[in-house]
Amino acid sequence: MSASVAGPNDLGVVTRFAPSPTGFLHIGGARTALFNLLFARARGGKFLLRIEDTDKARSTQAAIDAILDGMNWLDLRPDEEPLFQSTRVARHAEVANALLDAGHAYRCYATAEELEALRAEQRASKQPLRYDGRWRDRACGEAEDGKPFTIRLKATREGETVIEDRVQGRVAVQNSELDDMILLRSDGTPTYMLAVVVDDHDMDVTHVVRGDDHLSNTFRQLGIIRAMGWPEPIYAHVPMIHGADGGKLSKRHGALGVDAYRDMGFLPEALENYLLRLGWGHGDVETLTRDEAVALFSLEGVGRSPSRFDLKKLESLNGHYIRAADDARLAALLRPFVERRIGRALSEGEAALLGRAMPSLKPRAKDLVEMADSALFLFAERPLPLDEAAAGLLGDGAAGLLGAAHRALAAAGGWTAASTEAAVRSVAEEQGLKLGKVAQPLRAALTGRATSPGIFDVLELIGRDEALARIADRLEDGRNG
Ligand code: GLU
Repeated sequence: MSASVAGPNDLGVVTRFAPSPTGFLHIGGARTALFNLLFARARGGKFLLRIEDTDKARSTQAAIDAILDGMNWLDLRPDEEPLFQSTRVARHAEVANALLDAGHAYRCYATAEELEALRAEQRASKQPLRYDGRWRDRACGEAEDGKPFTIRLKATREGETVIEDRVQGRVAVQNSELDDMILLRSDGTPTYMLAVVVDDHDMDVTHVVRGDDHLSNTFRQLGIIRAMGWPEPIYAHVPMIHGADGGKLSKRHGALGVDAYRDMGFLPEALENYLLRLGWGHGDVETLTRDEAVALFSLEGVGRSPSRFDLKKLESLNGHYIRAADDARLAALLRPFVERRIGRALSEGEAALLGRAMPSLKPRAKDLVEMADSALFLFAERPLPLDEAAAGLLGDGAAGLLGAAHRALAAAGGWTAASTEAAVRSVAEEQGLKLGKVAQPLRAALTGRATSPGIFDVLELIGRDEALARIADRLEDGRNG
């Protein structure tokens, strides 16, 4: 490009995410958005959002909300207000008409029945289904006056169209394989191909980063771009995400909306990092902050083969981010999960208790659902229900140990993890038992479970009065039973 011609590439990098709001923001879409955002940020450019809602029958407000919500949650915020494609129909028609006036497009009066008959013929003779260009060079006369028509692109028939794709490399198609596609339907509405091209141009998009399911569309879109004489964006078609078994990603494999991962208790940074590394790699770096990702991301680092979604890997990353998370933030994220489990709101005092429990709850959790479950003992009401394993621990012989533990704990000076530990150890020593033999029935009495955070942390968290009362409840059971 000569220096005097201003094209979008001179204005700096502009990328966009262009979801069709016909369903939730699925993880493949979220990854596309992330790659677009990282690439734009890496180049000091702009990341834009275009909601492709021209298909009014399939687009819903709920889907638009889910997309915006999911992008917000993952902190994939566009640099400008989203553009709604449906507001631009007049502009799309204007471009179709400009192509018509310039002789790059033509009116096609073929009826639906005629086109169906053509396809039937092609099917019967095992030919590819393509529009045969019957109106391409035909002048329309009076017979066509007032009849409905579509506007079709007069596509170049000779030679080939080549894309130097940043991810896929050089991809070419023979132009003879591309038929004259419809730009504007007979009701005046634009086709997807036209709308995408016009909007990308008007938004000054320099780099189109999207799923490789769009690769074949690109050849057609280039036909429009070239006919208009517009600058061509750089393309990067990212391979699809497949299931762990290599098959197409389905719900069973985890092709869920981003909101489902939030509800399953994943932290946004864990999902972000997982999606980033799904199809893009930088050596064997496992976890990256957003800033590091911006610094390192490149389209060339995106692999050419489909990546496999692995829930186990996501879970283990989530565990990592849970442990790394700031306690106050994590407690705030966890709070609604706990409230859902106990069916009521936490008081501020209880929320503060949850905050203090973070160091004890963090080490083992792989998601917030699990973490909420292990926090339940904090808010349980006496007498605590016992699960089967806990009931087993409170069988024969437990009452004597609990009684001794109750006495020792009641006599403990202060109430810290260290002072309660000293008390419980003294009981074990007196009885000639290993610490675990005393700790297990104690754990069952204090939490109703056989597994919990460290028993001295549990004692400290629930506090002296509540702890002694929970132990006394079990002694009471022993007397009654
Ligand atoms: N709206 C299209 C989709 O959701 C994407 C179009 C594009 O990225 O060019 O699949």
